[in-house]
Amino acid sequence: MVWHAFMLNPRFMRSLCHKEILYRLPMPWEKIHEAIRNRDWTFTLKDADARCFRDETGLHADLLDEFSTWADTVGTPLTPFVGFSVPRKPIVGHEKALVQKYRDHFAWADKDLAAKLKDAVVRQSEFVDKMNNHLWIRSPALGGTLSRAIHRYGDFLHLLRLCPGRTIVPTLDIDLVWHTHQCSSPKQYAEAMEDMVGRFVNHDDTIAKDSLREGFDFSQSLWHVHLGTEYRVCGCWDCEALLSAVDDLQAKEEAGVATNMEDVTNLSLEVQKVVTYYRAVEVSVRAQRRLPVMRDEASVARF
Ligand SMILES: [Zn+2]
Repeated sequence: MVWHAFMLNPRFMRSLCHKEILYRLPMPWEKIHEAIRNRDWTFTLKDADARCFRDETGLHADLLDEFSTWADTVGTPLTPFVGFSVPRKPIVGHEKALVQKYRDHFAWADKDLAAKLKDAVVRQSEFVDKMNNHLWIRSPALGGTLSRAIHRYGDFLHLLRLCPGRTIVPTLDIDLVWHTHQCSSPKQYAEAMEDMVGRFVNHDDTIAKDSLREGFDFSQSLWHVHLGTEYRVCGCWDCEALLSAVDDLQAKEEAGVATNMEDVTNLSLEVQKVVTYYRAVEVSVRAQRRLPVMRDEASVARF
């Protein structure tokens, strides 16, 4: 999460790391995907990976887990962990050496950088919450949502190129693609922006709320004038599934496949059925119940 939040502040990352290997490293998405259990989103490193981290650094692979039990060992509770309901163990024997080792690490660390990265993580966690609220990752229209977002990101970059002196504020779907692009690797991102926008583009998530609102209104007007479509998207499963179904129908027509009024009429009913099924699946997953079965599998396969 710290690395991820660091990448999402590309100017900051470039100023500190442009000569470091970190500047050329992409986020290892496949490895991260493998470590996440998609039923409950828990993150667990493989034993071999955790061991490798411990051997290389001498640190515990899950520092959050390690530190959250330490409040009593360092005198005062560590602020970020106040409220954690984990049992706090008293410090004993060999652990004293461990605590000292972490203290040495903290003494050696760049505290200004650490504070900035902590703030960046807090800001990113707000974005993660918004993503989690939309739950696109479990939506029946995930593929369509991402395709449309990537397409809209291209248009967003066009607006950035047009208005170098202005703050262009992305919508949530565009921001998701922008974030992902920044995680390709800071070097690749910087080069791609030079190509596509004609300059380095920072992703500044420290802008005050008022300026952000003003920037969003300007971006929305600019989008309307240049693209002639809606800038803000609802993003709910129903709207996204309907948009995907309409996209599919349009693609069929463009490919010369005849469609009729019946296809259009059936569209919204079919979308409703599929979204209802996906909701039932999500409810069952959360309640740890058996997953429901959809009788008309042809409908599900369409999305
Ligand atoms: Zn909606």
